[in-house]
Amino acid sequence: MTRESVKPDIYGLTRAELASILEGMGEKPYRAGQILGWVYRRWATSFEEMTDLPKTLREQLSERIKFGSLELLKKQEAFGERAKRYLWGKDGRPLVESVLLKYKYGLTGFLSTQVGCPVGCAFCASGHLGFERGLSKAEIVEEFMGMCADEKARIGHLVFMGTGEPFLNYENVMAAIESLTDPGGYNLSRRRITVSTVGIPDAMRQFARDSRGVRLALSLHATSDDVRSMLIPLNRTYPIASVMEALAYYARYTGQRVTVEYMLISGVNDKKRDARALAALVEGIDCLVNLIPWNPVPGLEWERPGEEAIRAFREILERNRVKVTLRRSLGGSIEAACGQLRRKMTERE
Ligand code: SF4
Repeated sequence: MTRESVKPDIYGLTRAELASILEGMGEKPYRAGQILGWVYRRWATSFEEMTDLPKTLREQLSERIKFGSLELLKKQEAFGERAKRYLWGKDGRPLVESVLLKYKYGLTGFLSTQVGCPVGCAFCASGHLGFERGLSKAEIVEEFMGMCADEKARIGHLVFMGTGEPFLNYENVMAAIESLTDPGGYNLSRRRITVSTVGIPDAMRQFARDSRGVRLALSLHATSDDVRSMLIPLNRTYPIASVMEALAYYARYTGQRVTVEYMLISGVNDKKRDARALAALVEGIDCLVNLIPWNPVPGLEWERPGEEAIRAFREILERNRVKVTLRRSLGGSIEAACGQLRRKMTERE
């Protein structure tokens, strides 16, 4: 093990941990706030940039603390710079991707949580790449801060929707949320963070208790277990009824509206009876259903439903007093690794 690999990572340190390292170096604890200000409010990417710290201290910090571990291997822009995809890696080897979208209301970052994904959704490129490991807290935070540094702007919304199922890396995702919402650090509002899951009931209940304002989105995509198990194999372990029960628990426990993501695929899940079944599934749950018409991708035979089918599906939901939004794709020129992330390259109506 190299000395570099055992160094603590600045993106993984809490304020208290950083203060304790500084104390061990004979420095005053207030320096921790100064350093975190550079990291989280001025998007510094090295100690060198922290020009209000003595030069010797900057050198000592570089010796003792690693300033992140991800390399930006590739950046791709699309839609007149309204979308950016970042490919992060280590030692030149690709690991994960994150995406930045510019909506009218500001910037939203979409983060990956695992290297590869064990869930294997039928519509997702990442699901077939093979699973390696969960990202550390430091790596997740660095994905986010790396996009801020590149954009030289504050990102106001964060969605855990990229490669990986966030609830299969629960501890590190929650630790990254704690870090990014620290008032002395980035101070992101918890209400502007959404965790998107394919549905792991125990973790959803735990999340209800831990979330303290962080929002939950469920990728449902089907109303029968047969179809959903074909799209999302994890449904065989956690069928629709158990997932919806956990979603209702979250909504009740937190008093927060949840989001249900529903991709419309022609002939698979877009029939009128699916719309009626979906309305019945969400009945009594304070939720917003996002309809996302399928965008054809290479290698998958599915088709996007016609406008008439989309309109009819939506009307049935609305007639049943379900709150609905329909997303239009920003286009297809950015190939995000995760099928869901790619679907998210969309714009509200
Ligand atoms: S859609 Fe998400 S959960 Fe499903 S395989 Fe892809 S990355 Fe994993």
